[in-house]
Amino acid sequence: MTKYFAALLAFALFLLPGCRTQSQTVAVSTAPASPPAAAAPPVRSAFDGDRAYTDLTAQCALGVRPPGSAGHAACLELIQKRLTPNVDKVVLQPFTYTDPARHVTLHLTNILGIINPNAAKKVMLFTHWDTRPTADMDLDHKTQPILGADDGASGTAAQLELARVFHAKRPTVGVILLFVDGEDWGPGEEKMYLGARYFAAHPGLYKPDYAILLDMVGKKDVTIYREGRSQTWQPELNDKVWKAASDLGYAANFPDSVKYTIGDDHVPFHNAGIPAIDLIDFDYAYWHTLGDTADKCSPQSLKAVGDVMAKVVGDEKP
Ligand SMILES: [Zn+2]
Repeated sequence: MTKYFAALLAFALFLLPGCRTQSQTVAVSTAPASPPAAAAPPVRSAFDGDRAYTDLTAQCALGVRPPGSAGHAACLELIQKRLTPNVDKVVLQPFTYTDPARHVTLHLTNILGIINPNAAKKVMLFTHWDTRPTADMDLDHKTQPILGADDGASGTAAQLELARVFHAKRPTVGVILLFVDGEDWGPGEEKMYLGARYFAAHPGLYKPDYAILLDMVGKKDVTIYREGRSQTWQPELNDKVWKAASDLGYAANFPDSVKYTIGDDHVPFHNAGIPAIDLIDFDYAYWHTLGDTADKCSPQSLKAVGDVMAKVVGDEKP
């Protein structure tokens, strides 16, 4: 309102004799009814951040989900139930892992959601759905399991919503949404990436042309830098992701530089000859602590990552 009256005043003053030309210029440039035309917003996907966030909280509501827990068994059911209506085929890949130190044999399951199974070109998005059995970074609770809202549930939620996006608008290439188990068993790296290792050694019909890993992608104001190994191994695939992010107006969520070099599920893929990159926000104060809960995550972050993935996959040509 204040600006409006100031504009009226300026207009009236410039109507004084001898100021005609200027008055016209000022009146046009300050009139409140004529704001400058805004640039057209980028066309983003139908990815629903709120619905994805609901999938994140639903996983957390099952409790902690390390292999062998009740929450783990319930989460396997939840993922299948929400994935099945939106893909052509769900394939389960069960396997076991015996931890010699803990004297336990884990029953693990990779879950694959397949879209366009007969397509020659196949792209994969993958994430881990298990959660860490030990809060290693939580000084007071090191032996307790974490809830894994960001570290486990976020990538899983993003992929469940992407299945809905691809169901509504079918990509022209084959798409494999892989949910790997046993990523975060540990504690050491030799006992991690269990599902990714198993899949990389037994891809069967589902070996992709390339794979993009979504890990810890739900933090509020998610900020994903290029990961070091990904940039060394697959710079052009990284370029494709960061170009899509920039085109969609998500440059703030995807700073275009390398920050961390991280051991993750993309390593066994690379070692098996499957081109793979890791999308991860590793500036997370609650990593491997009991504080990794849903209130640290946001629908907006899931949507940013989901929109970028929908564009990368949607732009692929057969
Ligand atoms: Zn973790």
